[in-house]
Amino acid sequence: MSVELKKIDPDAISIVRKLLKHNFKAYLVGGCVRDLLLGLEPKDFDIVTNARPEEIKKIFKNCRLIGRRFRLAHILFANRKFIEVATFRGGDVTISKAGQVQYDNDYGTIEEDAIRRDLTINALYLDIKTKEIIDFVGGLKDIKNKIIKVIGEPKQRYIEDPVRMIRMIRFEQKLDFTIENNALNILKKQVALLENIPPARLLDEVLKLFHNENAIANFKALDKVGLLKYLFSETKYNKFIEVALKNTEDRIKENKPLTPSFLFAVFLWENFLKYFKNTSKKTKSKILAHQNAVELVIKKQVKQIMIPRWVSAQVSDIWFMQHRLEKVNPKYTQKILTNKRFRASYDFLLLRSKSISPELENIADFWTKAQK
Ligand code: ATP
Ligand code: MG
Repeated sequence: MSVELKKIDPDAISIVRKLLKHNFKAYLVGGCVRDLLLGLEPKDFDIVTNARPEEIKKIFKNCRLIGRRFRLAHILFANRKFIEVATFRGGDVTISKAGQVQYDNDYGTIEEDAIRRDLTINALYLDIKTKEIIDFVGGLKDIKNKIIKVIGEPKQRYIEDPVRMIRMIRFEQKLDFTIENNALNILKKQVALLENIPPARLLDEVLKLFHNENAIANFKALDKVGLLKYLFSETKYNKFIEVALKNTEDRIKENKPLTPSFLFAVFLWENFLKYFKNTSKKTKSKILAHQNAVELVIKKQVKQIMIPRWVSAQVSDIWFMQHRLEKVNPKYTQKILTNKRFRASYDFLLLRSKSISPELENIADFWTKAQK
């Protein structure tokens, strides 16, 4: 197995060369090496070195140090692009009472750095001068055999950081690999560890999972091992979610923009309808019933995943627009067409009509034509 250097971002190569020139060690590491070996296009290029953050900063003018406990260097380029350069990590990992992993700011050797990574396939280092892959954990063999293996004892590694379980499912789908049996069995027993993860971190993970070309496969796989309910406790797989995620996958392939509001609107829709039925019984005001139902759904969901205010506001708009779109009234057609949430709401209606609400086909058709 070998890698094509021409597939590597020239900026990443020049950073490595510059570090080498200053007599430091420097390698490409992690997901980019894995993807290069598999002939895939890496999303980003991470670099590790034995240079300390302050030393990195001295070498690169365009460098910013980030992170308080563990400092990392970002080398900045035009258009907000940056490449992360980390110093080899070592030392112990401690777990707080709340179950959170705490990294001490200890630098280490390349071997120590390797065994702190999550998976063997993610712990490979590429020496760009010799084109050699440095492998301390058997990752090359696992890539050849298409196996996802945890470094070290799986239970311990999940306790240290439960998000690793979600990452494993994501890589399983992305790479079409198999999770090693023992690691999978333990994972299934440890899914509840996810309860302790801060909702903001899970928002990032959720977007990586579902703003993704394998969104449907990720959903099904998470559901199967029991992880899904720790992200969306009330969301059940149905045809609507399937067509919506298929739509997301297509949009990614076509390079069209995605918004988290649409995703949350889809995942929480059935649940919202259930609440709306109840709140409608308690008040004659449709707006009030709507607002109350939105509040109940969102309040429950944010216990698991952080939903920024602007997102929940858009979710509420998309849902409210469904009432308005469903009742076609020529007097308001023009006004609705110019509503800033029309496009997303129309897409939402169309997907409903193609799945759980076929009775809306004519109405969806009306709005399709009305735009022309
Ligand atoms: P992709 O970017 O395609 O999602 P990746 O493997 O590059 O995959 P990143 O989140 O970019 O994932 O992380 C880069 C590297 O950092 C990983 O390859 C892995 O070595 C290490 N890493 C990331 N998250 C963890 C974690 N939770 N525990 C241990 N190591 C991790
Ligand atoms: Mg990456």
